[in-house]
Amino acid sequence: MIFNDNKSCPECNLTNVAIEMILNKNSFWECPLCHLQTTRKNAALMVFTKRGKGDFINNHRMSDKHTVGAFLARYPKSEGWFESQEEFIEFIQKVK
Ligand SMILES: [Zn+2]
Repeated sequence: MIFNDNKSCPECNLTNVAIEMILNKNSFWECPLCHLQTTRKNAALMVFTKRGKGDFINNHRMSDKHTVGAFLARYPKSEGWFESQEEFIEFIQKVK
């Protein structure tokens, strides 16, 4: 498993850039830089295969719950979690 602070973008974290996720109009967390989309479910932070369009809600709500130890998983959850950072990198290269 690999973990995320449930607050900063897991993709941008790979290059040591901490970008805070913002809630978009579909109620998903989206990175304002790379537009990776995620949603939380219990202890999982699930990553979508499609990027957002920067359509953020008006008040730019940031991820307020700082949950240490959220693990990264694919969306939908049935697709499973990432076993390694290499697996995650391989996945996000295909996220369009
Ligand atoms: Zn990002």
